[in-house]
Order: sequence, then structure tokens, then C-alpha cells
Amino acid sequence: MKGFRQRLDTVVIGAGVLGLATTDALRRRGVDVVCFDGRTPGQGQSGGRTRSFRHRHDDPRLVRMAADSLALWRRWEERSGRVLIGPEGTAYAGMSEADAEGLRIHDVRHEWVEPEKVTTVFGPLAPVSGPLLVDPTSGAIRTRSTIKALQGWVGDRIRRQDVHGVTIPDDGEGVELHTEDAIYRARHVVICAGTETPRLAAGVGLEIPLDQALHTRPHYRVREGYQATPIPCWVDRSGEFGETVYGSLIGGTDEFVVGLIGQGVDVDMNDGLPPGTEMESHVRRLTEYVERAMPGLVPEPVGIRVCVMTKLPGGSDAFGVWNVPGVTATTGHNLFKMAPLLGELLADSALNGRPSDELRDITASALVAG
Ligand SMILES: Cc1cc2nc3c(=O)[nH]c(=O)nc-3n(C[C@H](O)[C@H](O)[C@H](O)COP(=O)(O)OP(=O)(O)OC[C@H]3O[C@@H](n4cnc5c(N)ncnc54)[C@H](O)[C@@H]3O)c2cc1C
Repeated sequence: MKGFRQRLDTVVIGAGVLGLATTDALRRRGVDVVCFDGRTPGQGQSGGRTRSFRHRHDDPRLVRMAADSLALWRRWEERSGRVLIGPEGTAYAGMSEADAEGLRIHDVRHEWVEPEKVTTVFGPLAPVSGPLLVDPTSGAIRTRSTIKALQGWVGDRIRRQDVHGVTIPDDGEGVELHTEDAIYRARHVVICAGTETPRLAAGVGLEIPLDQALHTRPHYRVREGYQATPIPCWVDRSGEFGETVYGSLIGGTDEFVVGLIGQGVDVDMNDGLPPGTEMESHVRRLTEYVERAMPGLVPEPVGIRVCVMTKLPGGSDAFGVWNVPGVTATTGHNLFKMAPLLGELLADSALNGRPSDELRDITASALVAG
């Protein structure tokens, strides 16, 4: 190895929730790990104040992963001494027996709540014609507390530098990384760089078909009188109120975030600059939805967050893990809830030099259009 190159054992690129979780898992196992990120940790796709933790997924393997992840979230809560997933639960409208069965086979607690009783679990909701499926052990993730806890645990393992490129050198000795002021050689590199993952992974020959889009999510104030019981995370696929949406409380506030789900509800970034009118139209549709579906919320946004989100062809819950000797890369969508588990699995991959067969299997489905 040439003298001007600095040697590192394990490198994580990106200090979003996945990179931080992976760095923490490696550090706890005694690995000499460095996490590079030129920006403030947790400000990429992991930014904002809330995410839903829900168990239900179309792919039953993801239900199991979510259940395993929740057990690790509870350990993070013990270590941090803070609530990281609130007690709100999740309510789903428009679900079938197959959805309940997906939870049942993995022993995830759930119940059906009949239409006449829905306000006992979701106070602000308008009358509905079908039952809600309720998953009481899930809830709203306190994202900022999570990032803060992780930052505290990884401490000085973070280096405030971006990695410009990752390559496999001709002499085959480790993996080469380029930053503004050094060239490094590492034994193993884990790429968790969000939107930048495909570019960095391309440097070692990995092709990751990741789409990026702009997503608009306004939040609304909960009216007085509806704040007594915690409002669950919300998934409405019923179409009864004219839109399919998700929602979650911003923990510790009286604000509820709502966003559109489904095809064509994000602004495609490959089409050049996004037209503001498209985002305005999404806010208008959501506000009209709130007016129809949630009389317990004031139908005027008190704030709007526009964020970049990444998606693989397999759909909005698809994620993948790619690997060549010395490098593991991961990306997908809706991964905040999986972070404690993925951190452990990516740490395994860095130590064993390859992801587990289960992770490889999930990657295959991430590449099939869902
Ligand atoms: C609007 C919205 C709603 C969502 N809702 C949910 C939800 O309800 N539940 C859920 O579980 N998930 C949800 N997600 C998804 C979840 O937030 C993301 O999957 C997760 O935060 C991704 O984390 P990450 O660490 O992979 O990426 P990021 O948080 O994007 O982190 C990547 C990091 O890499 C750094 N980086 C980039 N390039 C480089 C480089 N060259 N060198 C060094 N560092 C680099 C960036 O600065 C960044 O800090 C949502 C996402 C969005 C945007």
C-alpha cells in the first residue's frame, strides 16, 4: 500500500439514520469504524420531525423485519433513556383479511375496529363505512431524538467530509476512497449515502436503479378536544375520502403530518425543475382530504415540508443491499423504521465481507417493479 494513502479498517459513507445505526453497531462490536459525511448528520432523507413505524407491509418478510426492528428500537430506548417510538399505534383503512393474516403469522398484535367505534381509536376521523385494522404496538418515530441519540453513541467516529468517489484499486488491496484532503484505503466500505448511493456505488461497478422524487407533506393542527388520546399513525388505502394517504403525529406536539401515497403523487426529478404548481396541487388535495376525512384537524396547513425521497422499482417499501468484495451499498425507501435492524445486518455484512442470503433475497424483489 503506497505511503501517502491512509489506512482505515471499516468506513461508513453517510450519517443519515442508516449510516449512524451501522456505525453504532460496528462500534459496539469493537470495530475500528469511521463515518464520513460532509453535512450535518440526519439532514438528508432522515430529516424532519416524524416518521411512522408500522408493521404492515405487502411483503411478509418485511413484516418480520419490522417486528425484529421494533425489539431493537426498544433497546435503543433503554440505552438513550428516551421514548423513540410513541404509544400511538397505527390505524389502517381499506385493509383485507390478508393484511391481518400478514401480521398474525409474525405474532404482531392487531385488531379490527368496527366503523361505529373508530373514533375510540382515531378521534379526529369522520364516519367511515369499513373497519380499521389497528396495530397497537407501533407508533410515531421521534426522529430528532433518534438522530441525537445515535450521534451521541457514535461520537467522534464521524468525520465531517464528503467522499468524492469509491474505487477498487488495480493492486486489489482494499477499497480506495477520495475525500477533499486525503486518499484512504479501507478494508470494507458500507455506502449509506441516500440519493448519492448509486453514484458512489457505480465507482465499484454496482448499478443501482434508484428513482428520486420530490415529496410534499403539509402538517395540520389537531383541534382542541381531540388531543386527549394519542392519534395513531394513519394509512388510508380505502379511497373513501378520495385520496390514498399516510399520516403521523409529530410527537410531543398537536400537529399531524399528512402525505399522499400511490403512483404519480411525487414530483419526478428527472423531468428538470419541479413545477411549483404540482406541489401546490398536492397540498390542496391533502387539505381537501383533511377537510373531508378528519374533522378533528384544522384544514389549513401550519407548515409544509418538501423533501427528496428515493425509490427502487419494487415499490415504496422496497430496499436493496448490493455487494462486491470490500463494498456493501444499501438504499430504498421507508427505511427509518428498519434502521436498528439494518444497522446490525449491514455491520454483519462489513464483518463477513458479504450480506446474508436473506438480504440478497430481498434485494432481488426490490428490483422487480411493484
Ligand atoms: C417525506 C418522507 C416520508 C417518509 N416517511 C417514512 C416513514 O413514515 N417511515 C419510515 O420508516 N421511513 C420513512 N421515510 C424514509 C426514511 O426517512 C428514509 O428511508 C431514511 O431516512 C433513509 O436514511 P438513509 O440514512 O439511508 O439516508 P439519508 O438520511 O438521506 O442519509 C444519507 C446521508 O449521506 C450523506 N452523503 C451523501 N453523499 C455523501 C458523500 N458523497 N459522502 C459522504 N456523505 C454523503 C448525506 O449528507 C446524508 O446525511 C420517509 C422519507 C421521506 C423523505
